[in-house]
Amino acid sequence: MSFHKICVYPEQVLARKADEIANIDGQIHKLAADMVETMYTAAGIGLAAPQIGVSQRLIVADMRKEGDGELITLINPVVVSGEGHNAIDEGCLSVPEFTAEVPRQAEILVRGVTLDEKEIEFTADGVLAIVLQHEIDHLNGILFIDRISSLKRDIFLRKLKKGKLKQS
Ligand code: ZN
Repeated sequence: MSFHKICVYPEQVLARKADEIANIDGQIHKLAADMVETMYTAAGIGLAAPQIGVSQRLIVADMRKEGDGELITLINPVVVSGEGHNAIDEGCLSVPEFTAEVPRQAEILVRGVTLDEKEIEFTADGVLAIVLQHEIDHLNGILFIDRISSLKRDIFLRKLKKGKLKQS
C-alpha cells in the first residue's frame, strides 16, 4: 500500500467522467488499498479514485470515525433511487479549506460491486448517505462546489483567487 498525493481543484481529472471498471484484477485491488491508505493518512471519511488521479469508478468510505459502520469499497457504484432531503456542512480533500451545506437526498439505495466481485445493494441514510452521494459525484466529475448556490461558489472562487485557500 502507498499514500498518493491528492488532486485538488481545478485539476482536470476531477472534472472528468471516470471509466467503468471491467475487470477486478490485481491493479484494482492495489488501487483500492492505496485509496484506503490515502484516505486514512489524510483523515478523510471517503475518497474516490479520481482524487488520486485515477479516472476509474472506485470509491472507499469509512464511517467508523463517525461512530458506526465499516470500511466500504465499491466498484462502479450507482445511486439507484433516493428520497427525502438532507444537508450538512461538507468538505472535500480536493477542495481544501472550504466547506458548504449541500442539498442531498436523505436516504438512498446504492448498488455496486465488491472487491470479491459480488454485486451488492443496500440502503444508506444519515452521514453515510451523504458521503456516498459525494463520492459517487466525483466519479461523474462533479464536486460539491458544483452543487451549491452561485453566490457561495463565487465566495469560494474569490478566496481561491486571492490565495486564501491553502493548496496542498
Ligand atoms: Zn470529495
